[in-house]
Amino acid sequence: MDKDLVEVLIPIPLMEKFSYFPPKNRSNQLKKGSRVLVPFGNRIMVGVVWGFNKKSNSDKRKYKYIREVLDKTPLLNATSMSLAEWASRYYHYPLGEIISYFYPPSLRKGKEAKFKESKYIELTNKGSLLREEDLSRAPAQLKLISLLKEKKELTLKSAQAFGISSAVVKGLIDKEYVVSFSRELSPYKKHENKDLKPSKKLNLEQKKAVDAINKDQDKNVTFLLDGITGSGKTEVYLQAIQEQISNGKQALILIPEIGLAPQAEERFKDYFGDRVMSFHSAKNDREKVDAWLGASRGLVDIIIGTRSSVFLPMKNLGIIVIDEEHDLSFKQTDKFRYSARDMALYRAKLEKVPVVLASATPSLETLKNTEEGKYQLLKLNKRATGASLPTFHAVDLRGKELNEGLSNELLEATKSELSNGNQVLIFLNRRGYAPSLICKVCGWVSNCDRCDALMTVHKSPSKLQCHHCEAHKNYPIKCPSCGENEFLTYGFGTERLEEFMKSNFPDVPTMRIDSDSTRKRESLSDYLDEIKKGKPMILLGTQLLAKGHHFPNVTLVGIVDADSGLFSADFRGSERVAQMMTQVSGRAGREKKPGRVILQSYCTDHPQIEEIISGSYEKFAKKLLEERKSAKIPPYSFQAKIFAESPKGLVSRDFILSLLNGQNIDRELRDDLRLVGPLPSIMEKKSGVYRWELSVFSKNRFSLHKFLDVMQSKLYDVKTSKKVRWAIDVDPLSSI
Ligand code: ADP
Ligand code: ZN
Ligand code: ZN
Repeated sequence: MDKDLVEVLIPIPLMEKFSYFPPKNRSNQLKKGSRVLVPFGNRIMVGVVWGFNKKSNSDKRKYKYIREVLDKTPLLNATSMSLAEWASRYYHYPLGEIISYFYPPSLRKGKEAKFKESKYIELTNKGSLLREEDLSRAPAQLKLISLLKEKKELTLKSAQAFGISSAVVKGLIDKEYVVSFSRELSPYKKHENKDLKPSKKLNLEQKKAVDAINKDQDKNVTFLLDGITGSGKTEVYLQAIQEQISNGKQALILIPEIGLAPQAEERFKDYFGDRVMSFHSAKNDREKVDAWLGASRGLVDIIIGTRSSVFLPMKNLGIIVIDEEHDLSFKQTDKFRYSARDMALYRAKLEKVPVVLASATPSLETLKNTEEGKYQLLKLNKRATGASLPTFHAVDLRGKELNEGLSNELLEATKSELSNGNQVLIFLNRRGYAPSLICKVCGWVSNCDRCDALMTVHKSPSKLQCHHCEAHKNYPIKCPSCGENEFLTYGFGTERLEEFMKSNFPDVPTMRIDSDSTRKRESLSDYLDEIKKGKPMILLGTQLLAKGHHFPNVTLVGIVDADSGLFSADFRGSERVAQMMTQVSGRAGREKKPGRVILQSYCTDHPQIEEIISGSYEKFAKKLLEERKSAKIPPYSFQAKIFAESPKGLVSRDFILSLLNGQNIDRELRDDLRLVGPLPSIMEKKSGVYRWELSVFSKNRFSLHKFLDVMQSKLYDVKTSKKVRWAIDVDPLSSI
């Protein structure tokens, strides 16, 4: 291969690869996928070798030299490289930045790819020939020599534990009787596979599902494991994974929420012992490198992680599971706007392994792919514990007196469940005390100066806070507009309900779970442990409580505001509401005791509320699919968005217009596209900038990408580019 010039990927927001001369005299070490240090501008950056080119004679450019090769053996394998390359084309995002997602932070910065090291000492040849009498006047040195003769080697730490000072060690090293060396300490042990045992006898549906997955265990088949909440989906993929592990393979499990990691890790550890690792943003640098090395060297069998785990290189991947595949958090919403689910599907194709998409409320895209036979459906219709699904009851709020937003029906039901020794879950997807503050005298409202949004009232600590930007203010002493101090806190948030529940039910604990109360690293898992003890209590929280948790003792779920989201301007709004409601309802009655759900609504006759009450997400999703089909919107067409934001609204709009103007998009391509916009985003002003967007729909993915290629080449050179921040979002999921 010609190695005149080396193509290097550098993590900067430009689409180009950069060329360098190989480092002098060391070009034979260079391999595709190795990290290198290169001069870039006036900085030294960590890059990744992508390829090699011949330098033509006419090329008179002055190339710089690669400074240093960091990895003799590349850290990334061919699959990772192909996955990155695909993602760069698919998401129209710079490869140099994408490749850095494949490394944990410290490797990105150029640190060595090693487990933690320990310093050891051992005898030199000279040292091993020493006789006792040679050191008769140095008893401490003699002690160390005898110890080393006996034990062959010692860590410096254990030498100290034997009472040997570092001066003694140094003295012997200086005399060349002893040498010190470093060795990596792998935190993982190789397990014997024979102690893996299934812990549950599967029911017939589950068994069929496991058998189906096992039958195709070395093929790239995608399964939709579609089972109602509590139907034993986790048990199914645990056993499918077990089969893979006993064949020496590894498994990757993606979960939506970091809060679910401890629970998942524990369940996997019960099954598979120590060779289970979790990987997410709360891990420190050392832990991330350990997991990364463990996975890539094949020392870990199972990785459970949030979306960024999809990039972890694995030595011998056998299966990928995406739990709660419908969840929005698999999609990154800034910078590199990838979907971890979709990247996982592509990765599985490259590695020829099966994928299991598990959900009680599958996304419409996945349902459509299943309907078309692209995915194989595995259905679980019964709760695994024999429990039945909860019953639904809607409370029509029209004309009702409420107590801090809660109906008498819900309060009565809460009381009776608590007195029967059960737990009650109250769901309100709005944190803080109240969503707005209003002056009773002049009508001033707590608008955020930087967003088209109201600032939320928080009580502990007391402040006004915008949930869309970082802004917060002191709670006003007097009205900024009229100077009076008669305020109305309007609406309800979790803090306010907590206050009410605590005073109304003083004898049982009320536990509020939202992103404010669980800010500290371990607090969510502490709360969950407390809930699992099963004592009567009120759990009150946002969507953090809705997802995936197994609360055996919850018998009543109260949905305080079933209407929020019903009238969303986003066409995906109804899908989200239905998923959220079904998920939160699914927390009720998961074990022996039957569960019920009370929904509070001002529009109980809304078809969506009726559908949810009937308890069938499936029927509801079918209807939505039909609607989407006739409107030719995703999943019945492909969508991308181009966003522009700047401190001036019209600049953002004109930027998008300038992209479209004078564009030589040929007729044929244009006929394949439907352009909508530029339009202001649903929340036009956010964090002090004005946001506009262009939506592109096409039935033909190829045309969509061709169009984006044209846009992309222009985005990097429009003159106004400097004044706006722009982004391309392929398969966008929300318009917030
Ligand atoms: P899902 O992932 O569908 O929500 P889980 O796998 O968490 O469901 O199962 C729900 C509950 O049922 C758990 O407590 C689990 O231990 C139990 N369970 C699952 N499968 C079985 C089975 N075959 N026999 C008995 N209990 C089961
Ligand atoms: Zn006022
Ligand atoms: Zn704001």
